[in-house]
Amino acid sequence: MSAILQNPIFTDNDKAREWLERRIWAAGRICPHCGRISYSTPLKGEKHRPGLYQCNDAKCREQFTVTVGTVFERSKIPLSKWLAALFLMVASKKGVSAHQVHRMLGISYKSTWFMMHRLREAMRQGALAPMGGAGSIVEIDETFIGRKAGMPIKRGTNHKHVVLTLVERGGSVRSFHVDSVKKEDVLPIIRANLDRETHVITDEAKRYAQLGDEFAKHDAIDYSREEYGYTDRKTGVNVNTNTIEGYYSIFKRGMKGVYQHCSEKHLHRYLAEFDFRYSNRSALGCEDMERADRMVLGIVGKRLTYRRPHI
Ligand SMILES: [Zn+2]
Repeated sequence: MSAILQNPIFTDNDKAREWLERRIWAAGRICPHCGRISYSTPLKGEKHRPGLYQCNDAKCREQFTVTVGTVFERSKIPLSKWLAALFLMVASKKGVSAHQVHRMLGISYKSTWFMMHRLREAMRQGALAPMGGAGSIVEIDETFIGRKAGMPIKRGTNHKHVVLTLVERGGSVRSFHVDSVKKEDVLPIIRANLDRETHVITDEAKRYAQLGDEFAKHDAIDYSREEYGYTDRKTGVNVNTNTIEGYYSIFKRGMKGVYQHCSEKHLHRYLAEFDFRYSNRSALGCEDMERADRMVLGIVGKRLTYRRPHI
């Protein structure tokens, strides 16, 4: 993985900025203040840092750089290091620890930790169009991870965090940190995220029983009887939750090996990171550099307010 970091955009700030400009302004340089496209002039000369532009709109006349309105804005960490961290995060299937990035890039552990959380925030998907649709199959399941603050470790899962996941076969994934596996916590998320024409597959839990009335089709597997699921003879559909189990195995291995100390407050960001990599995975024709491209596009306009805004 270190060989990747030989790319000059990860060491040279001007190259990094130019790379970012090419991606973010692929359709023309946009003024972040007034929104006008291709109506600005580069400010040259010793007074100005490279990459500074002035809007030519008579009412605006504001100056801007490519990082205005992004998580990179006003950061003390060089842009090239931000891009290197971003790349390391998207290139490793199970993720990479802040310790490892801190060692590879030579920036303080604390700054690395903040930087990585900001990048995770940038990977979070906002309000999205529903997944699935006619002819598509979405598996739904939940898993348990970590330990809730102040809860004693007991048998069962009461002390753990609940993650609800929806994964479309051959498509993308969305995960949510939910309060419990109760119907009232789980169903609103499913309704808000799935097209009604979707064929859904779950286990036999009661909370999912009414999905058959709300979606095109609902198959529920009784894992106590059908250990590996079954094939529906009429439709030929393999009724199982293998896809979601595959996703959870990547997520759990990643969280265990790389992210030992994940507090409740940050779980949704780790989920965003794993979802992002899975939804933009090589099997879907998305390779590392392209994944970095897509992530950069997701960063525009997203800001995260931590107590320490200037890292
Ligand atoms: Zn403007």
